[in-house]
Amino acid sequence: MRRNGDEEGTEAGLKSKKTRRLQVTNKEQDKSISSQSPHRGAGGLVILGSGESGIGAALLGKQKGYSVFVSDAGMIKPAYKQELIENEIEFEEGQHTEEKILQADVVVKSPGIPDKNEMVKKIRAAGIKMISEVEFAYWYKGDSKLVAITGSNGKSTTTALTYHICKHAGLDCALVGNIGYSIARQIAIDPKPLYIAEISSFQLDDIETFKPDIAVLVNITEDHLDRYDYKFENYINSKFRIIENQDEHDHFIYCLDDEVIAKKLETLTIHTNPLPFSMKQEVKKGAHIKGDQMMLRIQEERVSMSIYDFALKGKHNQHNTMAAGIAAATLGIRKEKIREAVKTFESLEHRMEYVATVRGVEFYNDSKATNVNSTWFALESLEKPTVLILGGVDKGNDYTLIEDLVKDKVKAIVCLGLDNKKIHAAFKDVVKTIVDTDNATDAVQTAFNLAVKGDAVLLSPACASFDLFKNYEERGVKFKEAVKEL
Ligand code: ADP
Repeated sequence: MRRNGDEEGTEAGLKSKKTRRLQVTNKEQDKSISSQSPHRGAGGLVILGSGESGIGAALLGKQKGYSVFVSDAGMIKPAYKQELIENEIEFEEGQHTEEKILQADVVVKSPGIPDKNEMVKKIRAAGIKMISEVEFAYWYKGDSKLVAITGSNGKSTTTALTYHICKHAGLDCALVGNIGYSIARQIAIDPKPLYIAEISSFQLDDIETFKPDIAVLVNITEDHLDRYDYKFENYINSKFRIIENQDEHDHFIYCLDDEVIAKKLETLTIHTNPLPFSMKQEVKKGAHIKGDQMMLRIQEERVSMSIYDFALKGKHNQHNTMAAGIAAATLGIRKEKIREAVKTFESLEHRMEYVATVRGVEFYNDSKATNVNSTWFALESLEKPTVLILGGVDKGNDYTLIEDLVKDKVKAIVCLGLDNKKIHAAFKDVVKTIVDTDNATDAVQTAFNLAVKGDAVLLSPACASFDLFKNYEERGVKFKEAVKEL
């Protein structure tokens, strides 16, 4: 799971500002908790799983007067264990003690634990309330505002950009969820008037009352189907739960160009305010791109901006930038601030990250691209002839999706994986040169040898990394190290 806690606090000290539309206030949080939350004060809270969200929920639960028990069938990370000990929170690891767990009043289930888990089944059978960490955190967020961002690709980028705009405008806010602290931890240790949260579908699966003031749905493409009975519809429904509790005071920002989203919306009656964004059609409210101009229309606010001024390059990032821009404008941030922030944002590591130019060859690290859809957007955003580094563990890829782009832009493919048969089969008639490698140094050296001045080398593997690396971060870091050694 991505954690980027360092981002938080980098611009500490900025004062919160009153905003014109959604009032972001810090006042009397505890009072609002006692008056709003029907769950306050207690009973037995069991946390299944001890990742960042589990530990965050444990800390918040302890603070709110629950008797907390953390249970993990695996091992608890030493740093988290230390935290539990210091906070006098009871825990177990390597097992689930059924008698104890089934005494819970509320269970918080970590997002990594699937419904088919035996303990989860028993908890459900016993009729015990089982929720996700974001639901639990929501009970205690008080008057604070919540922007919740989900989608199949682009969540982290859009969340980080929205946060950057808010900080640039002087709002007192925190970056939470999958990126940074869990929401529960942030609320327990440093509550803020505004949370910008990256939310996964697994977190949404176990919500009840969770209701963001602003929900963002960047896109939906097939992913994680193993957790959804291999039914795409189930995954789509899970993503749409982000708006299920929203009402007329809330806002829903979504990609109108995404056919899955557009089709699903035709079947739903929504109670929130829709704010679509599009590159294909003008919208009255929301944002669109026409020619090279982005137009943002939120109530009386109008922001126009050249897409060449966006710090984030590529079509996918134009979507992400529109989504973040609408969220910021809805929070009442003025257009000058939005423009400045969108220009100055630095992209996240491993996401179309520019690494270096070596003898006229540009290197990009897009190691986070673990599916074909991400690689499509990466290729689409590059103008230069490209040597593409592809491969790893394939999650059922359909490479025909990128065939046209590969034909147009890719001069050679360097495979970086243990089993590259599928890549060879998919591209043997499209690209002349396809070379196998099984480590980052060889992949980079081979790609460099195949490139000439004016070309780009792109690591955008369309596959998971765990055949050769610990995770996509390690793959990206090894790639960058190899580039620096050229
Ligand atoms: P997530 O948090 O949803 O995994 P990231 O922001 O980390 O998304 O981006 C992951 C990869 O997805 C990036 O490397 C990029 O190539 C691709 N990507 C980013 N934004 C989008 C988008 N709006 N549509 C499609 N692909 C995208």
